[in-house]
Amino acid sequence: QKTSVTVLGLGLMGSALAAALLDAGYTTTVWNRSAAKAEPLAAKGAVAAATAAEAIEASPLVIVCLSVYANAEEVLADGALAGRTVVQLTNGTPRQARDLADHVTGHGARYLDGGIMAVPQMIGRPEALILYSGDEDAFAAHRDVLAALGSPRHVGADPGLAPLFDLALLDAMYGMFAGFAHAVALVRSEKVAATVFEPMATAWLTAMMRSFPEQARAVDAGEYGTDVSSVATSQVAFPGLIATSEDQGVDPSLLLPMRDLLDRAVASGHGDDGLARLIPLLARPEPTR
Ligand code: NDP
Repeated sequence: QKTSVTVLGLGLMGSALAAALLDAGYTTTVWNRSAAKAEPLAAKGAVAAATAAEAIEASPLVIVCLSVYANAEEVLADGALAGRTVVQLTNGTPRQARDLADHVTGHGARYLDGGIMAVPQMIGRPEALILYSGDEDAFAAHRDVLAALGSPRHVGADPGLAPLFDLALLDAMYGMFAGFAHAVALVRSEKVAATVFEPMATAWLTAMMRSFPEQARAVDAGEYGTDVSSVATSQVAFPGLIATSEDQGVDPSLLLPMRDLLDRAVASGHGDDGLARLIPLLARPEPTR
């Protein structure tokens, strides 16, 4: 007998989650604020609940996927949570996850927070990575259900960790997108087609990413010696990058924070270190919780 599962929120993502559960043979109860979105799922065999409270009542495992956290808190507030496991897949911040975890566990339920690193079309397939944090026993107990949604990975008992990893991955992605956007603007300033430049950029970035394992080891060990490329070497390159940007009529502002960080690293005596030395320079003395 498979666990029965509830999905609250049937937007693009919630509908994909519910469909994957149905495909995997789970008895699935669904609820959405505007009821029409439950109809295609009901046609596939889902039970459409009239209220969120009724949907929560229906299953020991309640998956929440709404637009923002405030809505998730509101929707969960009406339900009898005691004894259930709440899996919260709405995107939010670590602080929001910790607060909601306190609320849910305060009502006698177990809590997992999740970060979906996939688009709805990938849900139900192994390439959909879903990060979870929070109650480890609840994760172990429901691992099979969660595996029907994608590849589940538990990243720690603190419920804030899945959103932290999720946002850190987005952070890395936006840094890369910023670099690509700026680089393409530079070549296009000479009317070079972006499609000519893109394969070079992709190959170059792929090669540069091979420095990540070494940078990760360096920052974990606090040992920053390098025989590859020093902070000073990069710092020396920056005035040329910025001057070229200005000469070509391209806004250099995406480069300036990196220039400032390199300047700060050299000024504080880390010019001979590898680029991983920039990482601790970003940390403030105390994180605000
Ligand atoms: P949608 O905009 O498609 O759906 C939003 C959902 O939230 C709908 O079910 C909507 O209900 C519901 N909702 C909004 N306001 C309220 C409210 N006040 N009370 C009750 N329900 C409310 O978003 P997605 O499904 O795409 O995204 C859901 C979550 O998943 C977001 O946190 C998103 O960041 C995350 N996510 C989405 C990805 C994607 O590619 N789509 C990728 C990774 C994460 P109604 O239908 O009645 O408006």
